[in-house]
Amino acid sequence: MSFEKERAPRVGTVKEVTSLSNPIIKDIRALSQKKHREESGTFLAEGLKLIIDALELGWTIRTLIYAKAAKGKPPVEKAAAKTVASGGLVLEVSEKVLGAITRRDNPQMVAGVFESHYRPLAEIAPQKNETYIALDRVRDPGNLGTIIRTADAAGASGIILVGETTDPFSLETVRATMGSVFALPVSRAEPKAFLDWAKKSGAEIVATHLAGSVDYRTIDYTKKPIVLLMGNEQQGLPPELAEGAGRLARIPQQGRADSLNLAVATAVMLYEARRHLLSLEEPGR
Ligand code: SAM
Repeated sequence: MSFEKERAPRVGTVKEVTSLSNPIIKDIRALSQKKHREESGTFLAEGLKLIIDALELGWTIRTLIYAKAAKGKPPVEKAAAKTVASGGLVLEVSEKVLGAITRRDNPQMVAGVFESHYRPLAEIAPQKNETYIALDRVRDPGNLGTIIRTADAAGASGIILVGETTDPFSLETVRATMGSVFALPVSRAEPKAFLDWAKKSGAEIVATHLAGSVDYRTIDYTKKPIVLLMGNEQQGLPPELAEGAGRLARIPQQGRADSLNLAVATAVMLYEARRHLLSLEEPGR
């Protein structure tokens, strides 16, 4: 008997749902609103690979939802077995229901409701060679998702959301992270709490600013752990945060654009820090 068959959920543990007026489906659809995500402490993620990764990383799944067409596929059965084993619910639904839940015409075959989680800032003790990203009032879900994905790819250690930001657990942000929301810890703090933490943490805050006096390529990112502080899309960094930073870095620009897109500027900074850290591993250094 295969592993999947051995662990497949017993008959009766999977609930079939075809109606959009089913109360469980209504609750899941309500997760499109921030208020419901916050009240329930849960969020929705789509895609089988992403769900398998999330389960492997230890995230708690409350509900697994799959389309009838996905029934019997070994990875789906395995995800269903894990869901049941951890006390979650498994729903087999019509494509119409899955499309309504994920708000897509061509929905993924599998979706999951997970418990959301922020890493408390007080738990973070940055170590040498680590890089964190702090985002001041990031507004755009696509930017936030892209930054989480890029930070994961560049080997950053975490994201800190400063002030009132867009929700990292909205469907749009989670989609844009391509699964990295499960891989990279996200913390949040008000500006003062962030600055207090940064002062005690031993990390250097490198803030990015259009009026920065330091070319971003001239900074040594290897002496201390680094927190790259990025400004809001419309307003940039407020003075209180800019003044709290050790340095204001500028990425030189040509042409007529007044600034880089926030996610692009973050990627440039992250990979510059990464380049410095990688150079430490070069023989002879
Ligand atoms: N109008 C805003 C301003 O005056 O700052 C533009 C904000 S920009 C779209 C968003 C953030 O990306 C900035 O606050 C900064 O953190 C970063 N950024 C964008 N272009 C940059 C550059 N050339 N040098 C340094 N940081 C930059």
